[in-house]
Amino acid sequence: MKDENPEPAADTSERPTPVKALRRHCLWCCNGSRNGVSLCPNKACPLWLFRFGRGPTPEIREAVADIELYPLETEQTGADVAGRSALKSIGANCIDCSGGSKVEARACMIKNCDLHPYRTGKSGHTRQLTNEQRAAAAERVRKLHAKQKMGPAQ
Ligand code: SF4
Ligand code: SF4
Repeated sequence: MKDENPEPAADTSERPTPVKALRRHCLWCCNGSRNGVSLCPNKACPLWLFRFGRGPTPEIREAVADIELYPLETEQTGADVAGRSALKSIGANCIDCSGGSKVEARACMIKNCDLHPYRTGKSGHTRQLTNEQRAAAAERVRKLHAKQKMGPAQ
């Protein structure tokens, strides 16, 4: 499990997309070397398909079609996960990083890991409201509650 990250994601508003986060993780894995990521021989890594920071080409998919991917417990080959998203690949990677445990992956406390927001394989993006939008929403709720207290119109 990683314990340090030279390029931690700052806050939610600056959070990269899953595929960009995956790319950053691969660069971290290769000490920042793009060439290292490009030449990564670990085709069993769930992130390998997306390591260039974009969806895999047919050639890249073909290269892992017969490879059994981590975590090995799932017994999935590259062909089995051909249509998988970067998000799902991150989820698989985090389970592997957590010793095969979904529970441990969910509970991961390494918040400076680029993959942390996406460790469950689900989007960590939430809509960010401005103060004005928040105030307007609160006003709508207040009016709704007031209307409910008045009861139905006679
Ligand atoms: S695909 Fe996996 S092993 Fe290869 S650079 Fe990315 S994280 Fe490292
Ligand atoms: S976020 Fe995922 S890859 Fe990063 S340390 Fe946690 S379990 Fe491992």
